[in-house]
Amino acid sequence: MISFWTPERAEIVVELAGMGLLTREIGRRLGCTRNAVIGRLYRQGFRMRNTPEPPTIYDRLPNVNTGGCRWITGDVCGGEWSYCGARVAQPGGSWCATHRGRVFDKRKADV
Ligand SMILES: [Zn+2]
Repeated sequence: MISFWTPERAEIVVELAGMGLLTREIGRRLGCTRNAVIGRLYRQGFRMRNTPEPPTIYDRLPNVNTGGCRWITGDVCGGEWSYCGARVAQPGGSWCATHRGRVFDKRKADV
């Protein structure tokens, strides 16, 4: 059985959580349940924030606003990572054209 959490999905879930997306929304984009997202983020060091609002995830990543692409390259858990940094596709956007395509690409759980 192949794990749902491919390295690519693991990267995307962290990226979307870093944007402050709700776990429910992350699950919808990745094609898994909210609980699966929460479990995965928990294992990656994220902790849920308990507020009267719908729960969101703490942004563990440094809030660097370089104006460049925020796609993460490298191993977030191992501490060896950096942002892509390429020019973003749209003003105020988070990713370059390539990585934006990867994040918003419709994904199926059975790949
Ligand atoms: Zn990029």
